[in-house]
Amino acid sequence: MQREWHQLSYPGVGNSAVQTSRPSTDSAEDEALGLDRWRTLPRVQMPPWADPDEVASVCQVLDNVPSIVAPYEVDQLRAKLADVCEGRAFLLQGGDCAETFDNNTESHLLANARTLLQMAVVLTYGASMPVVKVARVAGQYTKPRSAPTDSLGLPAYRGDLINSLEPAEAARVADPQRMIRAYANSAAAMNMLRAYLAGGLADLHGLHDWNKDFVRASPAGERYDAIAREIDRALDFIRACGMTDSEALRTVSLYCSHEALALEYDRALTRVSDGKAYGLSGHFLWIGERTRQLDHAHIDFISRIANPIGVKLGPGTSPETAIELCEKLNPQNIPGRLTLISRMGNGKVRDALPPIVEKVTAAGAKVVWQCDPMHGNTHESSNGYKTRHFDRIVDEVLGYFEVHRGLGTHPGGIHIELTGEDVTECLGGAQGIEDLDLPGRYETACDPRLNTQQSLELAFLVAEMLRG
Ligand code: PEP
Ligand code: MN
Repeated sequence: MQREWHQLSYPGVGNSAVQTSRPSTDSAEDEALGLDRWRTLPRVQMPPWADPDEVASVCQVLDNVPSIVAPYEVDQLRAKLADVCEGRAFLLQGGDCAETFDNNTESHLLANARTLLQMAVVLTYGASMPVVKVARVAGQYTKPRSAPTDSLGLPAYRGDLINSLEPAEAARVADPQRMIRAYANSAAAMNMLRAYLAGGLADLHGLHDWNKDFVRASPAGERYDAIAREIDRALDFIRACGMTDSEALRTVSLYCSHEALALEYDRALTRVSDGKAYGLSGHFLWIGERTRQLDHAHIDFISRIANPIGVKLGPGTSPETAIELCEKLNPQNIPGRLTLISRMGNGKVRDALPPIVEKVTAAGAKVVWQCDPMHGNTHESSNGYKTRHFDRIVDEVLGYFEVHRGLGTHPGGIHIELTGEDVTECLGGAQGIEDLDLPGRYETACDPRLNTQQSLELAFLVAEMLRG
């Protein structure tokens, strides 16, 4: 049976198909939309909550709070992703692997947002297309894990929404009250980002000045200097034309996204508007590589909300599975609704991706093709750190471009784990980070992120690829 196969393939991390109790306060509309159907389905990686009554009472609170995002914004993002789907725009998504309550500070949020926006400037120039900007922020508080225990033998950390990173047995117990803290932190993060975006954080000239500082300081600056100068000239041109006051040069829309893993949380923040269900815990929600079983809870839940959604596809994905996902998640074949996020690894992308793209294209399924060059390229360093090498990340993006160019499909975007801080979590880049540098500033709560310089370098390299 399919279900057994999936459960066996992730030994130890599955929770059985427990039916969490939920007070029957749901409206007939919610019922008709099937928003709670997932509760009856098998699932893996869900938070191991101990007390269903406490979960239900927390969810009752979340049922009534103001949402993190608004339905019209969700629709707006789907429309922008339709442009990506049809080859008229590029998608840049990025941020922490795991947000934490401790690090949900003004400085961290600003640094991450600024880095993402700086990358977007370079990519906009490289692609000569609008870049749709989506942050992993304001809800990226849950993590699927490949083992139920960590290296110390403690229950695995599953993200701040579920338990604590602190290495102690008691801290690792799943605590439903954390969902309230995750909501409050997400609301505060979005509030701050919206305010700074309206106040000039996204000013094009300002972002370009930051990029010039990066080029000046980078040991590989010479390589990136040409593009930076071209952008300079383009901005001079815009200025000369008297377009400096344009709103478009000062503000941008930055959307928020996270993995929909703790379904109780995302379900509680779902609201029905105009007969459609909107997951208002974030603009864009995705399902991870470990939870995309067709007949399981995660795929069922996400199939029922109107948001733009994504699914991660690892190297084991068959073309048939990709088609089944398209049929299940986008039965009306709406462009911008579904993003397929390939995360194959640099050694596999050139072989694993083409049959999937070919089959999906032949079926006429409308998808955004996005490349996550992070999750297939993780390894352990000689001194025991979970890390990734910059060269492999660049090579996977390169392979992804080769595949799409070869098949005549649109390489629609990239999905990156990054931070706007000077951490030492990924190897390589112009700074030449080596194994022995990793302990210096290894700060991630989960997977290794590109630091500011590595992120900008990647943006310049992808801009080169976009120009062909
Ligand atoms: C992630 O994006 O952090 C993640 C866990 O990805 P994946 O599901 O592709 O492993
Ligand atoms: Mn990750």
